[in-house]
Amino acid sequence: MTVIELDKVSLTYPNSATSAVSDISFQIKKGEVLALLGPSGSGKTTLLRLIAGFEHPDEGLVLLEGRNVCQSGDCVPPEKRGIGMVFQDYALFPHLSVSQNIAFGLKKMSRSDRLKKVNEIIEMVGLTPFRERYPHELSGGQQQRVALARALAPDPIVVLLDEPFSNLDPDMRTEMRREVSAILKNTGSTAVLVTHDHEEAFCMADQIVLLNQGRLEQYGSPEAIYHTPLTPFVADFVGQADFIPGLVQGKVIETVIGDLQNKTGFASGTEVMVMIRPDDIDLLPRETGKTTILARQFRGSENLYTLQLPTGEIVHSSQHSLTVIPEQTKVNIRLKMTHTVVFEKSEVKS
Ligand code: ADP
Repeated sequence: MTVIELDKVSLTYPNSATSAVSDISFQIKKGEVLALLGPSGSGKTTLLRLIAGFEHPDEGLVLLEGRNVCQSGDCVPPEKRGIGMVFQDYALFPHLSVSQNIAFGLKKMSRSDRLKKVNEIIEMVGLTPFRERYPHELSGGQQQRVALARALAPDPIVVLLDEPFSNLDPDMRTEMRREVSAILKNTGSTAVLVTHDHEEAFCMADQIVLLNQGRLEQYGSPEAIYHTPLTPFVADFVGQADFIPGLVQGKVIETVIGDLQNKTGFASGTEVMVMIRPDDIDLLPRETGKTTILARQFRGSENLYTLQLPTGEIVHSSQHSLTVIPEQTKVNIRLKMTHTVVFEKSEVKS
């Protein structure tokens, strides 16, 4: 079942020359986590606000459970949309305990139902020992669990999470991504996550809407976005991507590091750019090698080598961190790509 649908939605803020979001369409199914991913200013928050009802589209439709929420200028207000929100700063009520914070949205329930629901959800997010504490007596991660519990308690049709991990330190962030994912999956919740961090989107989302300057660059699974980026922007945004020139010659694409299978529709003679990721390249130190190691960056589980090809282009190769090859070593390189991503030369900014 489709819980949320945006159909060709555009919005320009008053006094703004350009649209904040333009012609955006996507759907979120029940139980799915969708990430709105993109750099700062790409329109993520605007889309979240359009779903929540704090903004209304100039063009296009927002449908919640199949219902158009703005009919000829008459829009369903945020509090009537059945949506839960988790804000960046959690926005907990400082003078209310954990259980009171969670009970806040359940005023319409009977006292006994409310108590039952609060107990159930506190247990689920692992906060039972902290139920009488106040927000300032909790760690960042615990406050976040309260915020999520408060959002989920009224059984919203969707929970919106606005950069929910940005206030946590990196270790805590990794743990909370896992925990929040597990809670969302265990409760079968539908969620929209706003993030500028592709790793966060990859590990939490079923579907990603990748935005750039208010436009949708790509909409698909994390795997599709990483392995088959549709634009150079996507390729670059979701991981290290280098581009090397190639020339289409029938069934192959000739490049400085060898011929690649041509599975594109480009005609012979087309000048293209081939995307190379660091995990696509293997290297072997050889005195006769024509490629030079310019730098090595130790990243814990891997070493990232910066390589200069004989034609001057720079590419990167990730190797196991126990293999240390000094800078300036000459190497031979071998491509171990399972598929090639190719763009027309004019599409790739140098
Ligand atoms: P993101 O969440 O990806 O950082 P936003 O949705 O906040 O992006 O912003 C998208 C664009 O809309 C940006 O160019 C931003 O400057 C502009 N914008 C956001 N909010 C307003 C506003 N209230 N008034 C005018 N312009 C805005």
